[in-house]
Amino acid sequence: MGRKQKLRQEKRNIKNKAAAAEVTAAAAEVTAAAAANAAEEKALALEDQLPKSDMYVQALYMADTDNITRREQFELFKRGATEDACIHSMFRMGKMLMHAHMALPWFLEGAIRGSFQCTMKLLGQFYFTKTFQPNRKADALQDYWGEITKKFHSGDSLVDTMKILKCSVTQECIICSKTDTKTLTLKQCEGCSVYCYCSVGCQTIHWKESKHRNECKQVHILNKYHKPYAKEIRDAVIRGDKEIPSLEKLRYKLGLTRPEEEYIEFFELTHNGEKIDPNDYLVGREDGTLWVGSTPSSPIGTL
Ligand SMILES: [Zn+2]
Ligand SMILES: [Zn+2]
Repeated sequence: MGRKQKLRQEKRNIKNKAAAAEVTAAAAEVTAAAAANAAEEKALALEDQLPKSDMYVQALYMADTDNITRREQFELFKRGATEDACIHSMFRMGKMLMHAHMALPWFLEGAIRGSFQCTMKLLGQFYFTKTFQPNRKADALQDYWGEITKKFHSGDSLVDTMKILKCSVTQECIICSKTDTKTLTLKQCEGCSVYCYCSVGCQTIHWKESKHRNECKQVHILNKYHKPYAKEIRDAVIRGDKEIPSLEKLRYKLGLTRPEEEYIEFFELTHNGEKIDPNDYLVGREDGTLWVGSTPSSPIGTL
């Protein structure tokens, strides 16, 4: 083969290889898109299993026909959520409430009943580490709800993201970023097994000052009162059971049933007379219960 011929042949080879690679990439993209679509369809089908209350259906219908104000729509969702325990209404309420610490309890109400949409909201909007402020970290809660999602609504890409998150969290001390060496082995938090520490000193800072105590205790409540009953609760919701004892116990343990007088100040964005940033109140109190329950008579001023 002459030199020119050889060159031409090489060029052809390269072109063919590039074309083949393109085809493979395109095929992979199609497969990934199909998988994502299938996962979404499955998730929506799962969500559709949960009963919709008349109030919810009416609110959507009236919104479509433009016959309703936002406030009226909210009131219908609220009735759907509080009178009929309609998960779809809870999700809408959560979305309509402006302040995160007041919206969160409604998404949590949906999530503990087995709602995919509500769980995704918790994962994507509330617990995902958006800030480096240690007192707002909720990786252990993220990890808990990620596991639940994997178990009940497998196939979502967010779950894979969380796997990565867990790796990055467990390989270094959450306070000082030290990593494992020949002479130092990091120790995991015994409560949640999510965070690692190089020393008792760092663990104490995280537990007290960074308020991991609050998060770890909430994870403990969920592990004890939610995880073993998650399927039972969801099945009961689908059947339309009016009384679900395991659900009521869990709601009480999480502080979702906390009387409104105990958190009314949060409606005005204050706590002990001081202005608050709602993002500091998304995890929980020292005993792991929520700051704000899900029984507000009317969260006026938040729409
Ligand atoms: Zn450390
Ligand atoms: Zn922990």
